[in-house]
Amino acid sequence: MLGSCRLCTDPGSLFKTPAKKKGKKGKNNVINVSSNAEDDHEPRTQAEIKKISDQWWELVHERAATMFPSEEAQRAVLENIAVNIHKNDDPISGKSDSCVQWYGEYTDDADGREAAITLRSGEAQENVTFVNRVIVFVFASDESFQKLQKLPRKPFRMRCANQMCINLKHINMSS
Ligand SMILES: [Zn+2]
Repeated sequence: MLGSCRLCTDPGSLFKTPAKKKGKKGKNNVINVSSNAEDDHEPRTQAEIKKISDQWWELVHERAATMFPSEEAQRAVLENIAVNIHKNDDPISGKSDSCVQWYGEYTDDADGREAAITLRSGEAQENVTFVNRVIVFVFASDESFQKLQKLPRKPFRMRCANQMCINLKHINMSS
């Protein structure tokens, strides 16, 4: 046993986590999901979001189809990621030498602040999971994915020590 799994982000159970909404109040929510609206967030325009998501679409691993109910849902996740980062940043195919700051939702718990994202798996179903787990599931190579699958079902640790960074290249592949 790995202990209590507060936000189980095993891809196989991504859609079984309790639904939580941004800013939703509720004492029985173990994890408090909040909006991370930073003043210095300069987002992409709609056209730029479309452009970068189209580029990422070409890099999506085939395993992603098992996580999302439709192509539309997969594309929505890419756009959600594009919306919540700085307009010049690219966590998938961008530079490896700088962090990609996440301006979307986050969770605060005993381990600190973690970048979070709401996934929609159906009409009314929303599930919060960790951005770096989604990015790995959608984009990582088979080799990296196999390594990361062996780690605890928690947010992956970032090599840069910035858990609000979502740069794929900064994810720690070892425990
Ligand atoms: Zn980083």
